[in-house]
Amino acid sequence: MKTENEIRVRFAPSPTGYIHVGNARTALFNWLFARQKGGVFVLRVEDTDIERSREEYERNLIQDLRWLGLDWDEGPDVGGKFGPYRQSERLDLYHRYAAKLLEEGKAYYCFCTPEELESQRQAALAEGRMPVYSGRCRNISLDEARRRLSAGEEGAIRLKVPEEGLIQFEDLVRGPVEFDLKLIGDPIIVRSNGMPAYNYAVVVDDALMNITHVIRGEDHVSNTPRQILLYQALGWKQPVFAHLSMVMGKDNTRLSKRHGATSVDQFRRDGILAEALCNYLSFLGWSPPEGNEVLRLEELVKLFDLSRVSRSAAIFDYEKLHWLNRQHIRLLPAEKKLELALPYLREAGLAGPELSPAQREWLEKAVTILVEGVDKFSELPQKFSLLFDFEPENLDQEARDIIQTDSARKVLGAFIQKTSGLKEFNYELFAALTGEIKKETGIKGKDLFHPLRVALTARASGLELDKFIPLVEAGAKLDFPQRIKSCLERIAEISSILRK
Ligand code: GLU
Repeated sequence: MKTENEIRVRFAPSPTGYIHVGNARTALFNWLFARQKGGVFVLRVEDTDIERSREEYERNLIQDLRWLGLDWDEGPDVGGKFGPYRQSERLDLYHRYAAKLLEEGKAYYCFCTPEELESQRQAALAEGRMPVYSGRCRNISLDEARRRLSAGEEGAIRLKVPEEGLIQFEDLVRGPVEFDLKLIGDPIIVRSNGMPAYNYAVVVDDALMNITHVIRGEDHVSNTPRQILLYQALGWKQPVFAHLSMVMGKDNTRLSKRHGATSVDQFRRDGILAEALCNYLSFLGWSPPEGNEVLRLEELVKLFDLSRVSRSAAIFDYEKLHWLNRQHIRLLPAEKKLELALPYLREAGLAGPELSPAQREWLEKAVTILVEGVDKFSELPQKFSLLFDFEPENLDQEARDIIQTDSARKVLGAFIQKTSGLKEFNYELFAALTGEIKKETGIKGKDLFHPLRVALTARASGLELDKFIPLVEAGAKLDFPQRIKSCLERIAEISSILRK
């Protein structure tokens, strides 16, 4: 039931591309605010830009928002009593209120062509005036305008704005904001093709959908006075406005592909968890009061505070996002880790489409161990190369230096000798053999273990051998698309290289 004080907010994206982190943050802040206040969150699709809007983008948008974990109480896909929720399906409403404004003399038809508007603009600039609409068609009566329209002329509808005065409003994030009407001019509300302009459609929709708080990006601050003028002209109560600062890269320019991934879709494909992305997005302009920063949506709902959102630019810090992602990955059960890792492993050709129970069990273990060292799931195949690739022919310089010292040759010689003829290998055996080698040669610590690591992994660094050996031994017995070599096979290869 709607109560007098019910909070109603909306996220109103234009389906003209993939959803960017700035917009995702706007959606999240609206959602958090609504959920925290027991209010209503509305999804409205602003698709009046017919050239650029696409259904496919709307589908992606819905998919991305759902992936983030957000849900809405009203929207194009779920319906609601204030629908339709797609602007392209609300044209009759825009026309109805535009007709009212025309009848009341608060709006008028403008017949200026784009060329005329451009020359008016140039003339204003040349005279040092603000390049706002000159008001040339203001005095064309509605009757005359109708005659011209029926004679085939094209006309847009403009709102009549007072020439002087101030528009003021209290922004929840930015504090008091003020605009001089001289800078505004009469905005177009309906274009000559019958489509509503953004500033007009948004007001009709927000008002008819009973929106109480408009939380959106700062790029819309300068639209707000025009929208307030429309609320006034239509005799509607204006909502509370909250404009969120822009999301910038570390170099203080607007976040763009140059800085890294920027769309929700790309973060998902890179293997950033939705929980981690929401957690990070909530920090763009806000921070939890104290304590733990690793927060799930339920916790964010409790802690979020719109009145504490900062007005200074939010800097997107990929390292912090990656850190949060690592923390959220840790919280996942092993089964879930594998589920999220599998698409990347399959893509890299490391796992087939079907897994036997033994393969699944092995992969779950391997993922749990290897994921500890990654920022995002897309980095996992690279980590898995430690288990799947063993190329002693192509040792890097560091590994080569390690095995070329005299003591390394001694250690490896003894190791090869002690393992020759063995049929089985495991970590306990490895530990016993290294104990013997230590006793016999007197070589210990790094000098003992580094050459052995190179012998088994063909790398100078990697997992601890007590984790590596059991994984490789178990993996070598399984039939993966790319075979894992057992420790004994590895030792044989290294031994033939050393003999060369
Ligand atoms: N469709 C607009 C946008 O995507 C919505 C702005 C608003 O929230 O008023 O920027």
